[in-house]
Amino acid sequence: MNPWPGGAEVALTLTFDDARPSQLEAALPILNRHGLRATFFVSFPTVEPRIEEWREAAGRGHEIGNHSWTHPCSGNFGFARGNPLEAYDLAQMADDIDRASARIAEMLGAPPRTFAYPCGQKYVGRGVEAASYVPLIAQRFAAGRGFRDESHNTPGWFDPARTMAYDADGADLPTLVALIDRARHEHGWIVLASHDVGDHPTQAMRPEVLDNLCAYAADPANRVWCATMAEAAERVASAGG
Ligand SMILES: [Zn+2]
Repeated sequence: MNPWPGGAEVALTLTFDDARPSQLEAALPILNRHGLRATFFVSFPTVEPRIEEWREAAGRGHEIGNHSWTHPCSGNFGFARGNPLEAYDLAQMADDIDRASARIAEMLGAPPRTFAYPCGQKYVGRGVEAASYVPLIAQRFAAGRGFRDESHNTPGWFDPARTMAYDADGADLPTLVALIDRARHEHGWIVLASHDVGDHPTQAMRPEVLDNLCAYAADPANRVWCATMAEAAERVASAGG
């Protein structure tokens, strides 16, 4: 099955997490110059001070997705120790997600259509009490994005509530193009997840890599359909996969 339009062999979605300032300052100008749209899974402490710029990005067709309200992750991460997933139950997680959706709806006039699991982690609680919150995402969104996954998504096989994403931070262009090429034979959907764009020591894509990747994806000769998370997920769903 090939759900992608215009003779494209593969689909590519660029995603950026946490509403880092470098996304406004470095990523958006590059994406806009190439005429490509991306999905931004935002965190509110960083969105609120620059809300007009985020509204403008949404107005240009970029997607603003849900990344939860308080970004709970495993307490194995020091930053999450005050708000660990191990201490959540499903009702608390649902409240956290719904609060973020309500704020996005208030900000943009429409609720978000996709979600990115903070830290790519999909469970609340611990041990015999642990529970997957994938069903909460399946009930609310067209797609839920993981992180540091090891595959593209295969139409007809993948679960949209567990859409896999490669970690694109620190990657060079040949590595990213190889991931795209690997998916061509089965018309896969490649989702890339990044954080900062710039010269940051960790969790960053270099601007020239993003620039060259956009040029590659925008060149019709490469037969790549570049779309937001919601567009790609909805395209697969309407194609029956
Ligand atoms: Zn995050």
